[in-house]
Amino acid sequence: MSHVFPRHTKATLPTATGGDGCYLIDSDGKRYLDCGDAAVSCLGHSDQAVIAAVQEQVAKIAFAHSGFMTSEPAEQLADLLIQHAPGDLDRVYFVSGGSEATESAIKLARQYYLEIGQPERRHVIARKQSYHGNTLGALSAGGNEWRRAQFAPLLVEMSHIAPCYEYTGRADDESSFDYGQRVANELETEILRVGPEAVMAFMSEPVVGATLGAVTAVEGYYKRIREICDQYGVLLILDEVMCGMGRTGHLFACDHDGIAPDILCIAKGLGAGYQPIGAMLCTDKIYSAIETGSGFFQHGHTYLGHPVATAAALAVVQELIGRDLPARAQTMGEKLQSALEAAFGQHAHVGDIRGRGLFRGIEIVEDRDSKKPFDPALGIAGKLKKAAFEEGLICYPMAGTRDGRHGDHVLLAPPFIIEETQIDELVVKLASAMVKVLPAP
Ligand code: PMP
Repeated sequence: MSHVFPRHTKATLPTATGGDGCYLIDSDGKRYLDCGDAAVSCLGHSDQAVIAAVQEQVAKIAFAHSGFMTSEPAEQLADLLIQHAPGDLDRVYFVSGGSEATESAIKLARQYYLEIGQPERRHVIARKQSYHGNTLGALSAGGNEWRRAQFAPLLVEMSHIAPCYEYTGRADDESSFDYGQRVANELETEILRVGPEAVMAFMSEPVVGATLGAVTAVEGYYKRIREICDQYGVLLILDEVMCGMGRTGHLFACDHDGIAPDILCIAKGLGAGYQPIGAMLCTDKIYSAIETGSGFFQHGHTYLGHPVATAAALAVVQELIGRDLPARAQTMGEKLQSALEAAFGQHAHVGDIRGRGLFRGIEIVEDRDSKKPFDPALGIAGKLKKAAFEEGLICYPMAGTRDGRHGDHVLLAPPFIIEETQIDELVVKLASAMVKVLPAP
């Protein structure tokens, strides 16, 4: 009997024993094309430069507490990230994952307003159908009803506006641009409802990952969001935990939208799975408010800036930049989009194929014309995940909501080193899984 506490206690999971490029290998020797272990493995599973960096660092010094010392890889990684970061982002706070990054961002926003003498600012606005992590602050920001439900009594009060989700949200007689402005303006309405003096931050994902399936914002949406935040002195926190680090074809996803946040959260692709690491980047304006104020960010975790984790991430970012991998994510992502459209573009139960770079989503519907989702009781996403896994494909299907606000979807986030033949393999395996699970039209 295994003593590991798995997420699904009734499931018996294979044991991963090896990795080879885009493939994971289990103890029976079965190979799985890894196209979305939650968008972590951007370099595949056997990147020699990252493996060497981890080995070298662990042999030098594995741990030094950040309350006493910094480390060479942490310093170099912060420099490299800031060199490429958008806007005025100027300081990097290293954590161990995505939830720690978003949680830190919320607390940093609060402390910033205390430091500058606006203690009444405490309210966060985020979006419906979103996910920002599983710790209580991050979960409070998230707008996924299913994830929130059983912890609702423990959550902090925040409010949620509509996401920019053109597939279901845009009216027939509305242009994409007008739709984007309309939903962005919901932020202003909500700020005015709460009272601008009480709002400290707005948090969202530039490209929505897990909850909606690679949903990009329409042109102009984020420019308007930035404008509204500036007008009311609200900090813009962008969560690029999943979509950042080159996945969308830019090192930072918001580069595409032509805006920069006040606080940016990254994780997943930052360590590419070689070490658990995340980071929160903030502007000098925020950092200096703390530096010249109390001089102490009242937050922290034991493993902040862990030397081995930052060494791994430094090698990852050097690989991403040195090998121009975000550009490769863009090119291969376009090939993936074409392959998906060729295979499923006319499929009776595929409503939308979307995304950017190697971050793609397929929305599964019962009816293409009405965009009606399948009844959630059918468990389409769970069945697709299982069927694809049996075929030797790891992808990320997610269930729709019970109120039908969005349907099941499949998120695909393969490593940036994926080859065209492996894109074909992905499509063939996904097609077999879909044949097994989806009802005949
Ligand atoms: N934000 C986003 C956008 C995510 O996709 C996730 C993880 N799926 C998180 C935050 C939380 O990250 P972690 O699981 O590393 O805590």
